[in-house]
Amino acid sequence: MPSRRPAHDHDPFVRVRGAREHNLRGVDVDVPRDVIAVFTGVSGSGKSSLAFGTIYAEAQRRYFESVAPYARRLIHQVGAPKVGEITGLPPAVSLQQRRAAPTSRSSVGTVTTLSNSLRMLFSRAGDYPEGAERLDSDAFSPNTAAGACPECHGLGKVHRTTEELLVPDPSLSIREGAIAAWPGAWQGKNLRDVLDTLGHDVDRPWRELPQADRDWILFTDEQPVVTVHPVREAGRIQRPYQGTYMSARRYVMKTFADSKSQTLRAKAERFLASEPCPACGGSRLRPEAMAVTFAGRTIAELSALPLSELAKSLEEAAGSGSGAAGAETAEVLTADLLARIGTITELGLGYLSPDRATPTLSAGELQRLRLATQLRSGLFGVVYVLDEPSAGLHPADTESLLTVLDRLKAAGNSVFVVEHHLDVMRHADWLVDVGPMAGEHGGRVLHSGPVADLEAVPESATARFLFDRKPMTVRQVRTPSGWLKVGPVSRHNLRDVTAEFPLGVFTAVTGVSGSGKSTLIGEITEETAGVDRLVCVDQKPIGRTPRSNLATYTGLFDVVRKVFADTDEARARGYGVGRFSFNVAGGRCETCQGEGFVSVELLFLPSTYAPCPDCGGARYNPETLQVTHGGLTIAQVLDLTVEAAAGFFAETPAVLRSLRTLLDVGLGYLRLGQPATELSGGEAQRIKLASELQRVRRGHTLYLLDEPTAGLHPADVEVLVGRLHELVDAGHSVVVVEHDMAVVGGADWVVDLGPGGGAAGGRVVAAGAPADVAGVAGSRTGPYLARALG
Ligand code: ADP
Ligand code: ADP
Ligand code: ZN
Ligand code: ZN
Repeated sequence: MPSRRPAHDHDPFVRVRGAREHNLRGVDVDVPRDVIAVFTGVSGSGKSSLAFGTIYAEAQRRYFESVAPYARRLIHQVGAPKVGEITGLPPAVSLQQRRAAPTSRSSVGTVTTLSNSLRMLFSRAGDYPEGAERLDSDAFSPNTAAGACPECHGLGKVHRTTEELLVPDPSLSIREGAIAAWPGAWQGKNLRDVLDTLGHDVDRPWRELPQADRDWILFTDEQPVVTVHPVREAGRIQRPYQGTYMSARRYVMKTFADSKSQTLRAKAERFLASEPCPACGGSRLRPEAMAVTFAGRTIAELSALPLSELAKSLEEAAGSGSGAAGAETAEVLTADLLARIGTITELGLGYLSPDRATPTLSAGELQRLRLATQLRSGLFGVVYVLDEPSAGLHPADTESLLTVLDRLKAAGNSVFVVEHHLDVMRHADWLVDVGPMAGEHGGRVLHSGPVADLEAVPESATARFLFDRKPMTVRQVRTPSGWLKVGPVSRHNLRDVTAEFPLGVFTAVTGVSGSGKSTLIGEITEETAGVDRLVCVDQKPIGRTPRSNLATYTGLFDVVRKVFADTDEARARGYGVGRFSFNVAGGRCETCQGEGFVSVELLFLPSTYAPCPDCGGARYNPETLQVTHGGLTIAQVLDLTVEAAAGFFAETPAVLRSLRTLLDVGLGYLRLGQPATELSGGEAQRIKLASELQRVRRGHTLYLLDEPTAGLHPADVEVLVGRLHELVDAGHSVVVVEHDMAVVGGADWVVDLGPGGGAAGGRVVAAGAPADVAGVAGSRTGPYLARALG
């Protein structure tokens, strides 16, 4: 990414003309550079289509074109943003909310590149044992051949299996399937017949076989080959063949290490127990690297410390002039590390340790880590496009976020932020409000200018919340129908914590990021809760492939397919419901196998999806698309937004019911066929909530939700929280982890954790009605709650 100042200095605006991406209605807007500009509007109004889909996408397109002329074909396929013209546009960097892939080996240290610096520090300035040679910085990385422990190949764990795991029921004979770990079908029979041929008794209960035989059968590394004469089965004549034996352990290890099938690997894993590698003690490093210390600790030990503690250790070491070997180098490297850790701590993430795996982080934490890393990159003249950086942040931490955004700006950058948080809006130099409503009822810019001027825009849903300063109407709190005791919990940063949650009411769990909210909530299980049903509505994706989408997940698509199979045309052609599935052969387009997209691989660029050349994204073959219902093909139905579909299916109650609940949780703007991979964590969560709400509920259900308001405009929050309160009124219990004080203030009970994050938190600081918690000294939430309650 070039860090030159663009040549448009004379015109200080990014000028967008005729933006028509998604629902944008030929938007013209001018946004100043070198400021913090916040894009607002209800969910689905078109903020992201403008900030990401138009401004960022265009910057990206120009960048691709400038570095890789051969990428034109790709750009052509993927499509440039639908916009007339943009002038004054600097290079852009986007920081979106996206979770790390669950398989990723990356960690807090690698994402922030702190690990590189620590390795350098150990290589150049570590304390080495007498006579030892100085190591290259690679030797301190478990991900390189030079550094990985030779025993566990840098995994830190070794897998072992035992007789108990391989043979869960020793009363069975081998023929009856005693060796549960064996493969099924022919392969399993083959192994049995080989053992039989070798003279083992396959009909005696396992536990009666001599121990030596059992050990050989399960654990041998020998692979004898024998001539098997299979007994005739089901009258079929079977020829003798050469069969090879493989012990159960060997089979399990081999499958686990080599199988391409996820299912087979998962099955093999059930027969394995993992334990820390005895050679490296779980540190993943070679002994030579583990013999080097800095500030009295190995690199593995330092990497396991929360960043705030790590900073303390480094500071002390710097003060004491330790690392005499390279005192000056140590000083430079330590100063750089401290500065970078400082930025991360400032964003409320000092409780994370460098060795924490990224898949265990929330999307918000990951985005803030990337943000902190960007701050040190030294880029200027760039426009940063951010997606709700306040998600997951306690109001106390939002202030530091604003400081960080200010610094990005002060360094000479433009900061464009899509946000719902009122404090972030108030802090902006410029506000672009999109609306007035979602989808086709939005897509216009209602205001682009200083924040205060929005007040004069009556259509704006944002203005209503931003300038309405009258105190909340305090509800009469409900009386609990019972109590749920959780704990004592000792996990992560919680030590012996006991908490009580009232049932039959609305409870909010609060506290700064890392204080232990998710850890505590995670202890509530079906068994402990004492309710008929426990429903956890989290932000995990509803699917990882473009094959799952809103309609398939909610079950709505099953009904839609029936509707199509019931049309006269479908009957005449003999098309059943299967014909209208894009997941099985028959009705789908075979070029893309029903995905609508094909993956395009280009040298040096991330692989990208382009619309299928045959069906153009429709997913179906032309014959299937000849069947219509109400004038639309099944592909066109999948392209409808929830809102439009509700009109279209007004006469089909089974479909309408699902659509109504989706509208209720603020998802009217999503298209039915929107692939799961395109949904944000908050959208996935609201889809799950909607699927729950459309069920017929019997008995007492406890709903657990982790920040359900993330990604929602205050106007949408009102609707969603209204639905949650209805659940409570219907006799259920709701527990939410929440940072939005408007929601916390309206709860019946608050459990506040903290006071800080990580080791500085993990206690119940206050518990009670909102008005009571608002007054608790020592609660970081208290003052903000008090302000919300007015
Ligand atoms: P916001 O950021 O304000 O929540 P978006 O810009 O994401 O809103 O969406 C605005 C409209 O564009 C919605 O009606 C949405 O359904 C539609 N939309 C968003 N992404 C796509 C897409 N990839 N294809 C078609 N329509 C889309
Ligand atoms: P909150 O939900 O309040 O943000 P968490 O419960 O996620 O807080 O985290 C509390 C503490 O536990 C933090 O110090 C965090 O780093 C640690 N922690 C959370 N999840 C994990 C995990 N999977 N592995 C290790 N530590 C964790
Ligand atoms: Zn090891
Ligand atoms: Zn296709």
